[in-house]
Amino acid sequence: MLRCERSEPRSIGLLLIVAFVLVACGTAPTLPSQAEIEAVEQRAAVPTPTRNARYLGNAGVMVTDGETKLLFDPLFDEGYGQYQLVPDDIRAALMAGTAPYDGVDVLFISHAHGDHFSAEPVLAFLQAHPQVKLVAPVQAVEKLEAAGLSDNADIIAFDQSPNDASLTLQAGAITVEAITIPHSGGTRFAHIRNTVYRVHVADDLRVLHLGDATTETAPIARQQQFWDAAENNLVFTPYWLFKNDQRRAALDLHIKPRSAIGVHVPTDLATLKQRYGTALDEVDLFTKPGEVRDLAVVE
Ligand SMILES: [Zn+2]
Repeated sequence: MLRCERSEPRSIGLLLIVAFVLVACGTAPTLPSQAEIEAVEQRAAVPTPTRNARYLGNAGVMVTDGETKLLFDPLFDEGYGQYQLVPDDIRAALMAGTAPYDGVDVLFISHAHGDHFSAEPVLAFLQAHPQVKLVAPVQAVEKLEAAGLSDNADIIAFDQSPNDASLTLQAGAITVEAITIPHSGGTRFAHIRNTVYRVHVADDLRVLHLGDATTETAPIARQQQFWDAAENNLVFTPYWLFKNDQRRAALDLHIKPRSAIGVHVPTDLATLKQRYGTALDEVDLFTKPGEVRDLAVVE
């Protein structure tokens, strides 16, 4: 089974400092200086796990397993006033291919909406990193072509509709399965092709990204054969599937992931939690760009 652990060197460091100050000063603790905090943090810093998931912004994540690096919905220009953009420093490192964003193998696009995909930065990324394979629905690739995508780019494009059988694609060494699940929002976004990927990162790690999957259970239930065809170790799901029992049925009864991380979380988390009551209390959410989960598989 998959276990996700947070890396929290700051809290460990602060505890150490408080303990040190209490011992050194008896009952009259003084606050540690910034330099002291940083010194302890550096000593307490744990190396990044070799198998991890790293949050970029909105539904953007990077999954790393040793030398394998996969990006999902990493480059987009729209936050629509409520979603987390990828911070400038992370985006610059992505574009430059500096660690930990070096050696990316595959870039996945869930769908052609501005809070998941923008043609210009994706095109610039592909031009700067020609070894990266792009896997995307035709709707996104058409926008890349309009922006000047060259014929020799390494693109795997597909035109898939809800209820179609799954596709199996090969992106270099990485096997990918794809189905199309309707976008949330009903008829307003019915024309948008929203892809769900199941990526075989390793023999014991399959990662799913749901894009902007619908809040309705029926279209997800209709793909039961797909969900059951492999073990779903980790799913990145839009937070809205955690809202109540009706929506959780998609996860709990149909997809049945071993582990789930909520993404697409509004930056105003306090208001969201008011709306959702206690529904998010026990849920793992990605909210801080750069945060990392250790993906250690325990059978
Ligand atoms: Zn969308």
